[in-house]
Amino acid sequence: MIPQDHPRYRSLMVREHLARCAAEGILSLEGLTAHGRGEAFDYLIGERTMESALLAEKTAAALLILARRPVISVNGNTAALAAGSIALLQNASNAAVEVNLFHRTEERVRKITALLEDHGVQVLKGEAERLLPLTHDRALCLPGGIGSADVVLVPLEDGDRCQALVNMGKTVIAIDLNPLSRTAMTATLTIVDEVTRALPRMGRFCRDLTKEEIQVLATGYDNRELLRSAIREIRSRLDHALD
Ligand code: ATP
Ligand code: MG
Repeated sequence: MIPQDHPRYRSLMVREHLARCAAEGILSLEGLTAHGRGEAFDYLIGERTMESALLAEKTAAALLILARRPVISVNGNTAALAAGSIALLQNASNAAVEVNLFHRTEERVRKITALLEDHGVQVLKGEAERLLPLTHDRALCLPGGIGSADVVLVPLEDGDRCQALVNMGKTVIAIDLNPLSRTAMTATLTIVDEVTRALPRMGRFCRDLTKEEIQVLATGYDNRELLRSAIREIRSRLDHALD
C-alpha cells in the first residue's frame, strides 16, 4: 500500500500501475525504463506545464484540426498512461488512432487495442505493411492510417521513426519530456510536457480554439524557438532551485 500522504504519491501510483501493465504484457520492460527517463526530465521541469509547452499544445491542436488525415500513433506507454485521454482527443479532433510498437508482437497489438477500446477509442485495424524505411518493426503501419496521414501525433516517439515520418513529408507532432532527444529535435512540432498533462489540454484546445486562432497558430510557429524557450524555462528553474 502506498500511503496517500507520501510526497511522491502520484508518481509511485503511476509506477505501480505501469508495473502492472508490464506484467500484463501491455507495456514492454524497456517501456518502463523509458518512463524513468521521462520522470527525470519532469523533475527538472517541476512536474507542471511550461509556458512554451502550453503554446505548443495549442499549436498542435490547430494542426490536428486543419489536418486532412490526422492520425494518433499509440504505443504501450501511451496506452497504459492515457487511454481515456486518447479517446477524448480522438473525439475532439476526429483523428484516427493506430497502434505502433517498437517491441511488436500480434499479442501486444491485440492487448493494447483492447485496452484502448475499453476506454472508448476507435482503433484502426488491418494488415500492417512495411511502409517506413526502418529495419525494425516500427516500420510496420497501415496504408490507410499512418501510411497516408498528413499529420501524425507521436507521443513518446523514437528518434529514427520520427525522422522517417518527417522525411516522408508528414507533419509530425511529438510529446517528449526531453527537449534534447532526437525526437524533440526532428519533429515538426515538439510538446515538452508529460503525456497525461498534454493530451487532455490538447483535446480542450481542439474544441475551444476559434477559426482565427487556428490559422494564426498553424502558420506562425517555430519549433527551434519553442525548444529554446523550453530549455530556458528549465534552466531558469534550476538557477533558482536553492534560493
Ligand atoms: P530519441 O530516440 O528520440 O533520442 P530516446 O532514445 O532518449 O529518444 P526513447 O527511449 O526512444 O528515448 O523514448 C522515450 C522518450 O519518451 C524519452 O525521451 C522520455 O523523456 C520520454 N517520455 C517518457 N515518459 C514520458 C511521459 N510520460 N510523457 C512525456 N514524455 C515521456
Ligand atoms: Mg530512442
